[in-house]
Formats: sequence, structure tokens, C-alpha cells
Amino acid sequence: MTYEIACLSCGSSLYSGFDLKSPNDVLKVMGYKCKKCGVKLSTDKFVVEVKKVDGSYS
Ligand SMILES: [Zn+2]
Repeated sequence: MTYEIACLSCGSSLYSGFDLKSPNDVLKVMGYKCKKCGVKLSTDKFVVEVKKVDGSYS
């Protein structure tokens, strides 16, 4: 399983990896802004998507 945190505005992936990180930690590193579209990000309207890695069908 990979965890992905995506920007609600442009859909770009802000974090993806095997460790589940808190959105706040990820956003803090990025200065609470999306590096792609520049939208201001807030943790209360954040979506954490959990995605399965392609190719691992068990
Ligand atoms: Zn964005």
C-alpha cells in the first residue's frame, strides 16, 4: 500500500510513500502551499488518499 496526499486544487501529489504521514507534517515542510499551483493548503480540508501500488494484486 502507498499513501498519497494530493492537492485538492490541482490534484498534484504532495506526498506519496509507504509511511502514513500526517497532512500537517507534509504541509509544514511545504510552507502550507502547493508547489505546483500555489494554492494555500489547510489541514482541515485535506484529503488523504490511500492507493494500492500497481502490479501487486494479492
Ligand atoms: Zn495544487
